[in-house]
Amino acid sequence: MLIGTVVSPDPTLAVIAAALPIDPRPYTVGSRPTGLIVVDVVNGFCTVGYGSAAPTEPNPPIAKMVEESARLAKAFTQKGFPVLAFLDIHEPGKPEPPYPVHCERGSGEEELVDELKWLLTHPLATLIEKDCINGFIGSIDIHTKHNGVLEWVNQHNLEALVVVGICTDICVMDFVVTMLSVRNHGLVPSLKDIAVYTEGCSTYDLPAEVAAAQGLPKTAIHPQNVTHHIGLYTMAERGAFIADAILMHQ
Ligand SMILES: [Zn+2]
Repeated sequence: MLIGTVVSPDPTLAVIAAALPIDPRPYTVGSRPTGLIVVDVVNGFCTVGYGSAAPTEPNPPIAKMVEESARLAKAFTQKGFPVLAFLDIHEPGKPEPPYPVHCERGSGEEELVDELKWLLTHPLATLIEKDCINGFIGSIDIHTKHNGVLEWVNQHNLEALVVVGICTDICVMDFVVTMLSVRNHGLVPSLKDIAVYTEGCSTYDLPAEVAAAQGLPKTAIHPQNVTHHIGLYTMAERGAFIADAILMHQ
């Protein structure tokens, strides 16, 4: 767990990172059409004290993820490139097992964090509400079967996607691994790369002692740095480009 500004080496993470390397490298966004996907950077996952799925105290990796997501959203729109933001939103009374109630419509938890609220009115921004983990699935209109994210990629003839947001090993990962299959199946003919930015992603922390104190099952244990790494590794092994920097060259 990361606390404050002093980060001590984590032997568990060191062993896992050696066994499951992710080999991140800088990713260059050139002139070819590239879209930024911002996954669930909403109060309910990012803002301290904002509901059951929010951090309970300041969390440096989550704060950094918010900062980097906002910075990249600004850089992409300034370059004339589109940004798509997923918003995790649930109708009150309709649960999303196995998670506790979170991001219910009208609670404020489902709203973009302050740093990204400008996307609500920006002409290059598209917002897609979703009520499940996987943003590709959540983009399917339940009635018309129309898929908003598929249309967005094809409408802009995107050749690359850069993905940021939360949680690395949950909503980010499920979307990215699905989009890799979507690309390989030929549903997005222009799309070549899917890059995931390490510092632009984060996940939550639920240490073993907290899970035990709350009477949760052992599978609820979720050490932040290890699960972040495993999410990155899983996306890397499926063919995503894992980027430790996003270079916005002309
Ligand atoms: Zn949800």
